[in-house]
Amino acid sequence: MYFIEPHIHIASRTTDDIQAMARAGCVAVGEPAFWMGYDRSNVGGFYDYFRQLTEWEPKRTANYGIRHFAWMGLNAKEAENVPFAREVIALLPEFLDKPDVLGVGEIGLHKCTKNELATLRELIELALGRDELLLFHTPHLEHKLMGTRMILDLLRADSRVNRDRVWIDHCEEHTIRLVRDEGYWAGLTLYPTTKVTPERAVDMIEIYGPERLLVTSSADWGPSDPLAITALMAAMRRRGHEESLIRRIVYENPLTFMRQCRRFDFTPPQ
Ligand SMILES: [Zn+2]
Repeated sequence: MYFIEPHIHIASRTTDDIQAMARAGCVAVGEPAFWMGYDRSNVGGFYDYFRQLTEWEPKRTANYGIRHFAWMGLNAKEAENVPFAREVIALLPEFLDKPDVLGVGEIGLHKCTKNELATLRELIELALGRDELLLFHTPHLEHKLMGTRMILDLLRADSRVNRDRVWIDHCEEHTIRLVRDEGYWAGLTLYPTTKVTPERAVDMIEIYGPERLLVTSSADWGPSDPLAITALMAAMRRRGHEESLIRRIVYENPLTFMRQCRRFDFTPPQ
């Protein structure tokens, strides 16, 4: 079965990973801009990273028949210095105009500080002003519930937000309902050590259904699995789910969400 990996950091993965994903049936990936594991020392570091995501990584995946889409943004871990963040945000329009860029992401909160919120507001303003899709990273562990609520409060207060065009990622059992009840897309992250296991993801699919749900590996430079979606597919089959439901989760849902981007021109294999 074909699948789409809508959240993976290809810049942190090897060519062997890309090849294994292609062999397993992956036809397209989404790569949000994120924290590369170290703080960039100047705005030029971001400029080169955004070029990497829009010029170099698409070529690496194309060698294996995988179409690459990127998201442009500034992760909360580097959002604390507001004037510096503003310089990075000023770079984004140039990259958002590129054909295979899906929108503004991943943006959000980390420790939920005032400065993170100030930067986040500017990023949301940029996205809404350009009618871009939005991808939110919600914080880890002890800050997740509070951070998810803060993001939902920000969005609820802005009448321009079209909730069909917003994806709130890294949901868990205690946050998925908040996100879906308000009409947003909810993301589940399959990490080997933190976040959600394939079995817990299947539990949530069974409880909440497949509507507006995206499941991803979010594989990056840490312990993570670029083939995690195939583990989800196997877990769903073990539980006796129909192939049509599996295809909906791993293929049709990502396409439905991504197609809302006006620049999206991918003809998916059937
Ligand atoms: Zn990520």
